[in-house]
Amino acid sequence: MTKLSSSTFPAVPPPLLPSPRPPSASTPPAGESRALLRTIPKVDEVLLWLNAAGSHSGRVGAAKAAPTLLIRRVVREVLEEYRRRILAGRSLDPEELGRERLLAQCQARLATRLCPNLRPLINATGVVIHTNLGRSRLPEATAASLTAVALHYSNLEFDLATGKRGSRYSLVEDLLIELTGAEAALVVNNNAAAVLLVVQTLAAGREVIVSRGQLVEIGDSFRIPDVMTRSGAHLVEVGTTNRTHLGDYERAIGDQTALLLKVHASNYRISGFTSEVAVAELVALAARYQLPVVEDLGSGSLVDFSRYGLAKEPTVQEALKAGVDVLTFSGDKLLGGPQAGLILGRASFIEQIKQNPLNRALRIDKFTLAALETVLRLYFDEEQACREIPTLRMLTSSYDEIRHRAKRLRRRLKELPPACCTLELVCVNSMVGGGALPEMPLPSCALALLPRVMSLNQLEKALRAAPVPVIGRIEDGRFLLDLRTVADQELPELAATLVTILTSEFRQV
Ligand SMILES: *Cc1c(COP(=O)(O)O)cnc(C)c1O
Repeated sequence: MTKLSSSTFPAVPPPLLPSPRPPSASTPPAGESRALLRTIPKVDEVLLWLNAAGSHSGRVGAAKAAPTLLIRRVVREVLEEYRRRILAGRSLDPEELGRERLLAQCQARLATRLCPNLRPLINATGVVIHTNLGRSRLPEATAASLTAVALHYSNLEFDLATGKRGSRYSLVEDLLIELTGAEAALVVNNNAAAVLLVVQTLAAGREVIVSRGQLVEIGDSFRIPDVMTRSGAHLVEVGTTNRTHLGDYERAIGDQTALLLKVHASNYRISGFTSEVAVAELVALAARYQLPVVEDLGSGSLVDFSRYGLAKEPTVQEALKAGVDVLTFSGDKLLGGPQAGLILGRASFIEQIKQNPLNRALRIDKFTLAALETVLRLYFDEEQACREIPTLRMLTSSYDEIRHRAKRLRRRLKELPPACCTLELVCVNSMVGGGALPEMPLPSCALALLPRVMSLNQLEKALRAAPVPVIGRIEDGRFLLDLRTVADQELPELAATLVTILTSEFRQV
């Protein structure tokens, strides 16, 4: 799997600051450099060229759309760089300072500057819930609800029945109750916030008992022990890394105990000589001491994926039925919705959590609510949910369906000369991602490219730099595009990008 880090994203254009002055040359430039320096055009001259080019050349779109201030800044930067190169004594082809080349440089740089920093890309990694690539794609239906809420006023906190102030949380609470059987629900910014808020509300200043096998770190420094510290609760670790028994919990219960916490191990598995206390046993034990059980489910799913051939994971409904008092999970992992932290459980606890002032700092905005409501409504018909929620659709796609898509991509690439690149369909394993079902490889089909005109690393880099970047992975000396995470509608763009990159290289060879 390609591990994406920020360094694998296209270079962020430098901030819009005036260019630094060139370092004052300690030795005066040689005669040749002085002559070259004199050939650098003035900023205003290049601006005039750009303007003139704007009226008849096709590639001036960028300059047309750009604010004058930005155009001037870019021109100044480009000229400044030439000046520094000359002063540094580096070789420079005088043609580079000609009108054509300078204009092309300025245009290209303007285009980069005008490109949004956050933009869509094609995920051909096969990792369905890819945290670095935006986790879950939202269903088409959310586009309309998001736009409507963005462009209009809404009843975000206004009760249309009474004409009085309403609560934003009530907009999805009933849906969550109906879907899961929970007594009450609350949604906050993300699951990390949900865990923090729940523990802070129910256990600040008191003890929380957690199995040592569940003291996990979920990517990007969300660590259960640190969350405990921040929430003001005292962590009481029980059991060992691989085995924790009911007796371990029971011996740790004292008059300072606030709750028993179960955490989904998410992104790792302990295998071999292991033992974990089942949630039902934990619930029974807690009941004897009148303590609540809180479970951080992590991914949390409303659908039983084992019905679709995936590994068995307890669903949200099952955890609630088992008697968990408060349950938290992410909105953008297996649920396939927007980033959010869902908190479900007993009304008395949820009420306390709603009253916590910290809640105000972690609240969700109207866009999250609009998208979440639309996604939740799809779950009333599981078949529809699996069809229309991209995360569910990709997870439940059959190998044949993915192979068919891979063949369609290959057909679109048939104009590529074989001397330029060889193509082959191969069997690979996709990953669920997002810490869900970490050991569950999903059989998938990838298009493997072996470019003849460039190296694999060059191809990888060129795909990342494309207008719609394409992220794949290099494996066994080939570049793999896993079609599980590519949408049918993305195939034309993907094919066009590949053809452009590979044939332009081909022509240069
Ligand atoms: C992913 C995860 C979190 C963090 O959820 P976010 O929605 O990313 O904040 C917390 N706990 C577990 C067990 C997780 O898997």
